[in-house]
Amino acid sequence: MAKILSGKEVAAALKDKLTEEVKKLKEQGKALGLCIVMAGDRPDSASYIKGAVKRCTDIGIDCQVEKLPEEISQDEFLKVLDRLNKDPEINGIIIMRPLPSQISEDVVKYKIAPEKDVDCFSPINVSKVMSGDSDGFAPCTPAAVIEILDYYGIGLEGKRAVLIGRSMVVGRPLAMMLLKRNATVTICHTRTKNLPQETRRAEILIAAAGKARMVTKDMVSEGAVVIDVGINFDESGKMCGDVDFDSVSPIAGQITPVPGGVGSVTSTVLAKHVIEAFKLQQGL
Ligand code: NAD
Repeated sequence: MAKILSGKEVAAALKDKLTEEVKKLKEQGKALGLCIVMAGDRPDSASYIKGAVKRCTDIGIDCQVEKLPEEISQDEFLKVLDRLNKDPEINGIIIMRPLPSQISEDVVKYKIAPEKDVDCFSPINVSKVMSGDSDGFAPCTPAAVIEILDYYGIGLEGKRAVLIGRSMVVGRPLAMMLLKRNATVTICHTRTKNLPQETRRAEILIAAAGKARMVTKDMVSEGAVVIDVGINFDESGKMCGDVDFDSVSPIAGQITPVPGGVGSVTSTVLAKHVIEAFKLQQGL
């Protein structure tokens, strides 16, 4: 039976470390701020924001949510962003996506200050992640996967890592982060021929496809590390990952559960990025 890689445990350890770090900064009279920008009122964004604000506030970061009307024009939206970019009390900015249709992500992504862009929206940060420049901010979800692998001492050097998913939020940046750590990386996607043949070669298998329980036992080799990024809801409304946990866990060496895996770590990684952004801006 696979060892469970607990995201909750990773998040708790990271939270303690970050809380201590913020406490020390506060003793020096420094304050850290995060602003989450939401145009409109999507329920999935609202629940993400609630979790992020709670976690960052617990760690000692001042959080504010800039709630904007769904029908805000692109010009007005950019004015708000410009104000936040210039606000010295804001160290990190997250813009909830998707944006309303009248606002172009391709315009906005060039306007967010890269040094405050804690979830890798700016092309500057995307390029830094792609080129392996550790100065940039990776998206929080792939960074959470790396956090879990590091916490459990799972080495990547020379390992065969196989990813399912090539999105710009998860699969692609994560592939580059694994490559930076000298894994041999394969990226699979909807056009991959014979997916089980690819995934069975994995020593580390990462599923980020958004398809409930699509990774079945025939797709996993004995002893593999299986990281499940997927957040799905099955026919009965129960949250589940991309991995069929019940059939895969007797075969895998180590496995993340859903819930309680990668998703539990992302908001703590967000806090980590705000602290890094603060230090970058202060030249610390
Ligand atoms: P996406 O839809 O943008 O991308 C999915 C990718 O998977 C695509 O590249 C597609 O080619 C590939 N794919 C889909 N079905 C496939 C199949 N049958 N075979 C092979 N490849 C397939 O999704 P995303 O935004 O990258 O998110 C992926 C999953 O991760 C979703 O379940 C999402 O909810 C979850 N997610 C979790 C977190 C977290 O904090 N844990 C954060 C972001 C996303």
